[in-house]
Amino acid sequence: MQRDPILLTPGPLNTTDRTKQAMLRDWGSWDSSFIAITAELRKKLLAIVHGEETHVVVPLQGSGTFSVEAAVATLVPKNGHVLVLDNGAYCKRMGKLSTLMGRKTTILPHAEDAPVSVAALEAQLLADPSISHVGFIHCETGTGVANPLQAVSEVCARHGKGLIVDAMSSFAALPIDARALRFDALVAASGKCLEGVPGMGFVFIRKDVIEGSSGNSHSLAMDLHDQHVYMEKTGQWRFTPPTHVVAALAEAMRQFEEEGGQPARLARYTANYEALIGGMKGLGFVPFLDPAIQAPIIVTFHAPADPKYAFRPFYEAVKQHGFILYPGKLTELETFRVGCIGAIGPEEMRGAVAAVAATMRELGIASGAPNLR
Ligand SMILES: *Cc1c(COP(=O)(O)O)cnc(C)c1O
Repeated sequence: MQRDPILLTPGPLNTTDRTKQAMLRDWGSWDSSFIAITAELRKKLLAIVHGEETHVVVPLQGSGTFSVEAAVATLVPKNGHVLVLDNGAYCKRMGKLSTLMGRKTTILPHAEDAPVSVAALEAQLLADPSISHVGFIHCETGTGVANPLQAVSEVCARHGKGLIVDAMSSFAALPIDARALRFDALVAASGKCLEGVPGMGFVFIRKDVIEGSSGNSHSLAMDLHDQHVYMEKTGQWRFTPPTHVVAALAEAMRQFEEEGGQPARLARYTANYEALIGGMKGLGFVPFLDPAIQAPIIVTFHAPADPKYAFRPFYEAVKQHGFILYPGKLTELETFRVGCIGAIGPEEMRGAVAAVAATMRELGIASGAPNLR
């Protein structure tokens, strides 16, 4: 049997056979065995951020963006004002959804090859006291840059501003500790570093914040306060839950614990990253970011200067060798991205580098070196 290609993307990701097998059952949403899975999941999620004392976790149906949208809808009052720190595509998405929902939104633009600036944030907060919330992307998956969560959190706390963190691609891999870090909401999803399948997100919300958020949401389906109250009362999801996704995530989280939790996951992804970078540099490729600001989650590479290179045929040929790459997301430069996350290890990353090398030989691409004027 031919093996499915390995996904080197920022999600959906490769999952283990154990995780896939957990989906081979049908559950009733009101049945006690499914209610127990949801309860186990919520308990374990809170434990990952050490938020048992301070936060609740509210799961929500849908892809990760649904939960980002729900967090903004639920936390930001209709007369609130969101400042979004923007250094990439996912930041822009948060700015767009906040604007579309009718919340006053200010975008603070940054270069895409650097982390967001804590000094610029502080200056903006001083200049405009009407800002009530800061929207922040922890790992900007559009490039792979790690943004300064701790420092941004400290500035928001000092100025008494709410902080909404999109930690979609970092949660469970990079350390996040609610005892040491103040945030109002932090959003992640099933199909990223927990290595579940896509289909649900979850939002950690400070207890006093969720209690005060009744009536903020303009949307019924996106109202996390309502979802939380219902789940606390009944143990059930408000509307049809993604039962198979929930069961797969519970199984993925058992494996997460067996592996050694967040530190072990970070260690494996770091080993993946190093195998990838080392191999690709050997072929002449140059990463877009300075390694000092790069998270070991997803790597953006400059496109090779060789005229025989074009992303489509390159992608198709690498796929024939068993690996799925990801297009770049930069407006100014031609790039492509390679994810380091999912149920894969350095062996698979070395396989990916070998697939890229074979593809270069087939297409006559002499070197991965870009033309950096
Ligand atoms: C994956 C991701 C999301 C969610 O994307 P969906 O396509 O809605 O799942 C949001 N923010 C970041 C930073 C991400 O990496």
